[in-house]
Amino acid sequence: MAKAIFLDRDGTIIQGVPYLSSPEEIVLLPHSARAIRLFKEEGFKVIIATNQSGVARGYFTEDRLKEIHQRLLEMLFQEGASIDAIYYCPHLLEGTAPEYSIECQCRKPKTGMLLRAAREHGIALRESFMIGDTPADVLAGKSAGCKTVFVKNFDEEIEMPVEPDLIVRDIWKAAQILCSKEDAQRIVIASRSPEHSEGAAKQSHFEATRLSTRGGSANLFGGLRRSAPRNDLFGAGNNKL
Ligand SMILES: [Mg+2]
Ligand SMILES: [Zn+2]
Repeated sequence: MAKAIFLDRDGTIIQGVPYLSSPEEIVLLPHSARAIRLFKEEGFKVIIATNQSGVARGYFTEDRLKEIHQRLLEMLFQEGASIDAIYYCPHLLEGTAPEYSIECQCRKPKTGMLLRAAREHGIALRESFMIGDTPADVLAGKSAGCKTVFVKNFDEEIEMPVEPDLIVRDIWKAAQILCSKEDAQRIVIASRSPEHSEGAAKQSHFEATRLSTRGGSANLFGGLRRSAPRNDLFGAGNNKL
């Protein structure tokens, strides 16, 4: 079984642009590629799991979304970072495009994307991490049985429905911690011991903070691989479960 890093897209790997609808709008966050390279070196599969309700809202088409993801893969690849797959949820119950306006099982905080990725890539969820910048990411990861990392790239306090195992400023910090055997082990132990998890999680937060200051959706998913030709990129249309 493989271990994986599940990454949210907007605000985690790339700058958060509301309903980003064009490949030209993609801006990689600093050190995203570097973090992904480190995860890959450490033997993780790296899989993006992103809510893209802009499709259901009629802001952009699913084909446009695939173009955006193709461009994202190219940009990362140019920096030596390869992604194993991208899963996306194009749905929203209150959407305007009828075929996407459904109550799906993949829109985070639901677990559909992670569970499907686990099936399709032979991933052990308990050995894996979900990293993202919203409570929905943490909740999805936790519900799927992963360890969770909250990317808190803003200063305001936020209500968290569940406690993440780790809080970091960006994914490069997460990569440094998760790819350090000692720190990662502590997180694994913390998340496996419910009776101690609160204290251990707090210790993890402390550790992340300390390191920071020192160093400075569906039954329908889309999946794609870096090397796949465009027409192999599959999405909602041909992957109904
Ligand atoms: Mg996000
Ligand atoms: Zn969905």
